[in-house]
Amino acid sequence: MADLGNLKNTAEIVRKHQFNFQKKFGQNFLIDSNILDKIIESAKLTKEDCVLEIGPGIGTMTQYLAEEAGEVVAVEIDKNLIPILEETLSTYPNVTIMNEDILKVDINRIVQEHNGGRPVKVVANLPYYITTPIIMALFESHVPLQSVTIMVQKEMADRMQVGPGTKEYGALSLAVQYYAKPEIIARVPASCFMPRPNVDSTVIRLTRYEKPPVDVEDEAYLFAVIRASFNQRRKTLANGLTNAGNLGVNRQMVEETLEEMGLSAMIRGEALTLEQFAELSNRLGGKRV
Ligand code: SAM
Repeated sequence: MADLGNLKNTAEIVRKHQFNFQKKFGQNFLIDSNILDKIIESAKLTKEDCVLEIGPGIGTMTQYLAEEAGEVVAVEIDKNLIPILEETLSTYPNVTIMNEDILKVDINRIVQEHNGGRPVKVVANLPYYITTPIIMALFESHVPLQSVTIMVQKEMADRMQVGPGTKEYGALSLAVQYYAKPEIIARVPASCFMPRPNVDSTVIRLTRYEKPPVDVEDEAYLFAVIRASFNQRRKTLANGLTNAGNLGVNRQMVEETLEEMGLSAMIRGEALTLEQFAELSNRLGGKRV
C-alpha cells in the first residue's frame, strides 16, 4: 500500500471512497511525512511495544506505527472509515481496527486483551474536540501506560506543560503533571493537514511517572480540590473550595488550612504549585466531614 503521508495519496483515497469529512469528529488527516517520522521517532517504538492509536482516520499514522511496533490497536469512531482502513492496512497483520468511541470503550480491557495488562504506548493525532476527556480517561482510569505521544491544538499543549502564575495554568496542567513528564516535540502548522484546521498544532510526549511526584492520600479528592479551585477562575481559592459542595469542608476549615500553609485567604488557585495542591488536599481531606 502506498505511503499515505502526503497530499496526493490521501486525496486519492478520499476520492476513491467518496469519503465525506465529518467536522463533528475533528477529522484533519496528516499529509506530512516529516511530521509523521518525528512522531514515530519520539514515541521510541520497538517490536516489543503494543501501541494504542486513537482515531486512525484513513490509517496514515497507523502504517508508520505498524512498521515499528509489535502490535497496533486502532480505535476509530467513524464507521465510514472502517472499509478504508481495511484496505489501507491490509498488508499489516499486526494491526487490529476497532470501530468504537474511545470515551466509551473499556481501554483497560483492550490493554489486558492485547498486551496482557502490560503498559502500552498511546500514539495519536487526537480529535481536538475531546483532547482533555481522552487524556483524563487514560490517566484517571489508570490505564497501564508507558507514554502518550499526541498531536493536539497548540494551546492545549501549552496548558499541559506550564506552571503556576500563567493564564494557561489550570486543572489540565496539574492532572498531566501529576501523572507524567510533558515534553514538546514539534510545532506543526495547519498546512500539514487535510483539510486544514483553523489552529496550529503541537506534538507533545507525556512520559508516565512510575510514582507521582507528590504524596497524596486520596487522589480522587486531590482532583476534586483542583477542579473546585479552577471552576470559578476569577474568584479566590477559598470561595471556590467553599462553594464546591462536594468537598465536605466549610469556609472556616478552608481558611484555617490556608493559614496553616502560610497562604493568604485571598490567594487564587492559579498561584499554587502541584506540591501545594497535594498538601492542601491532604490537609482538607483530614478535616472534611
Ligand atoms: N490519525 C489520522 C491522521 O493523523 O491523519 C486522523 C486524525 S483526526 C485529527 C482524528 C480522528 O479521530 C478521526 O479519524 C476521527 O474520526 C477520530 N475520532 C473522533 N472522535 C473519536 C472518538 N470519540 N473515538 C475514536 N475516534 C474518534
